[in-house]
Amino acid sequence: MLPPPRARVRAECGKDATNAMETAAKDTIDRALAALAESFPARFEAAETEQALRDENAKILGKKGELTAILKELGKAPPEARKAIGESVNRLKRDVEARFEARLAAIAKRLRDADLSARPFDLTLPPRIPVGRGHKHPINAVREDVIEIFRGLGFAVHDGPDVELEENNFGKLGFPPDHPATDMQDSFWTTGGHLLRTHTSNIQVRAMSLQKPPMAFIAPGSVFRRDDDATHSPMFHQLEAFLVDERVSMAHLRGVLAEFAARMYGPGTPVRLRPSYFPFVEPGAEVDIGCVFCKRADGTRAGCSLCKHTGWIEILGCGMIHPVVFEACGIDPERWTGFALGMGLERIAMLRYGIPNIKLYFENDPRFLAQF
Ligand SMILES: [Zn+2]
Repeated sequence: MLPPPRARVRAECGKDATNAMETAAKDTIDRALAALAESFPARFEAAETEQALRDENAKILGKKGELTAILKELGKAPPEARKAIGESVNRLKRDVEARFEARLAAIAKRLRDADLSARPFDLTLPPRIPVGRGHKHPINAVREDVIEIFRGLGFAVHDGPDVELEENNFGKLGFPPDHPATDMQDSFWTTGGHLLRTHTSNIQVRAMSLQKPPMAFIAPGSVFRRDDDATHSPMFHQLEAFLVDERVSMAHLRGVLAEFAARMYGPGTPVRLRPSYFPFVEPGAEVDIGCVFCKRADGTRAGCSLCKHTGWIEILGCGMIHPVVFEACGIDPERWTGFALGMGLERIAMLRYGIPNIKLYFENDPRFLAQF
C-alpha cells in the first residue's frame, strides 16, 4: 500500500536531498583526489633528504594521511560511484608509491655521487687536536730486550704453534700421565688430543726432534692455562732458552743466568739457584735474583714486602734437560747434554717496572700503558 500523498512527497524530497548530498560528497572526493594527484610529485621533489621524503610520504599514505582521510569519505558517495572512486584511490596510491621509490633512489644516488666526486681525504694533514704517539706494550718491550740479551749470547729465535699435540706438550717432556699439569683443570683442550700449549717447551721438543745438536735457541710465545687471579692470567707470555751440546754443565747454565740478570737488571745483580722439581729437567732449580725493589745504593738489600723480607725474588725455572726428553726427541743422552730455562715475561716486566697486578697488562687502559 502506498503512503498517503503528503508523506510520499516528503519521502521523495528526502531521497532527493540524500542524492544531492551523495553527489556533493563524490565531487569533494574527486576534487581532493585530483588535487592530491596534482600536488604530490612536486612535494616529493621538494624533499631534499631521505627523512624529509619519508615524512612527506607518511603525510599522504600514513594512517592519518591525506589519502586515508579521503578513503574514509567513500561511504558518503553514491553507492554506484564507490567502485570507480575506490579504483581511482588505488591508482593514485600506486602512483604515490612508485614516485616515492624513485625519489628515494634519486636522493641516495645524489649522496653517493657527491661522495665520489668530493675531494679525497688528505691523510697527510696534521690533526687539529694533537694525537699522542703510540709505543710498545711493556710485554713486547721486555720480550724484545730479553731476546736481544740472548741473541747477544749466541741464541737464535725459534717459533712453534699455539695449538699443540698432547705428545709435544707433555708426553715427550717426561710428564707422567697423571701429572697435575695435564689435568683438565689446568689445560684448554680442543679436539683430537690437541690443546693450547701450556708452556713454550713444545718448541724445545719440536726443535730437538727436527734438528741435530749442537743448538742454542730461544722460544718466545703465548701460553694458556686455566688460571685466573691477581698474579695469573689464562693467557700469558713465556720465553724459553735451551742449549744442547757436548759436555754442557750446570756451570754454563749458571753463567748464562748471571749474564742475563746483569744485562736485564743491572751489573752485579746477584743470582742464586734453589733446587726444584720440573718433570723435564734433572737437576732442576728455581732462580732468584737480588730484590730489585729494596736494593740499597751499596748493593745490599733492605728487605721489603715484595721479596717477603728475604732480599730475593724468584724470576724463572731451569735445569739440565732430562735424558728422557733427549730420548723422546731422538737425541743420544750419552753424548749430548743441555740446559733449559723458562720465564714468564709478565713477571719479568712486573719486576722491571714494579707492576702489582697481571691484569693491568691486558686491560689496555691508556693511563697504565702511557707510563712506559
Ligand atoms: Zn725487596
